[in-house]
Amino acid sequence: MLKWARRIFVFLLLGAVVNVALAWGCVFANGDVSRRDHLYRLSSDPDYFRVVSVTRRAGFSYLVESVPWRSSPKVRELLPFYPGTHWWRHWPMYQVQGHGHIGCGWPMHTFGATLIPDPDVAVVMASLSISPRLRGGLASDEKKVTNPRTGKIPMILPYLPLWRGFVTNSLFYAGLVGGAHALRAQWLRDRRVKRIQAGRCPACNHPRGTPPVCTECGEALPC
Ligand SMILES: [Zn+2]
Repeated sequence: MLKWARRIFVFLLLGAVVNVALAWGCVFANGDVSRRDHLYRLSSDPDYFRVVSVTRRAGFSYLVESVPWRSSPKVRELLPFYPGTHWWRHWPMYQVQGHGHIGCGWPMHTFGATLIPDPDVAVVMASLSISPRLRGGLASDEKKVTNPRTGKIPMILPYLPLWRGFVTNSLFYAGLVGGAHALRAQWLRDRRVKRIQAGRCPACNHPRGTPPVCTECGEALPC
């Protein structure tokens, strides 16, 4: 019982490690978003959108919130939603102008960070270069953080856990690690049986003789 509990704990730990490594790996793979032109512009729609631009690749999302009005159905199509909720943090509607949200992780987002521009919305709208505060992330170059509305941001490593995604992903990878371990154990058992049946040492596959231990590796041989 204790052995099983310990084993499950190790699998969960490994699952969490794989989850974190993959989430941050996605950030490094995507690097500096500012040099890429993959922002979806949703402003062609006459309605106001809560989200104006989205960069989305496997395991990585960057979105900018704009004039808070109402969520568009288009936003729902484009963005990864957890069942019924946004993966990014909720802010009071009057505060979200120009907020940039960075999420990373796969299959769900594990970590999130938020770029919060100057509280003066007029300044944000007029300025080409501002210094937003970064919450929940590390920036590769703080000075390069400019207007998030233009998409010019440095590489940001989010570290605030999005618990729903963190737990789901960790369980997912723990399951994979556990499954791989079970397959390997089964393969080792099958190989041992086959070697014994073929009259060979189960450990090193050396043909066995009459002594009770293997002459090659010293393994005790079953009679
Ligand atoms: Zn042997």
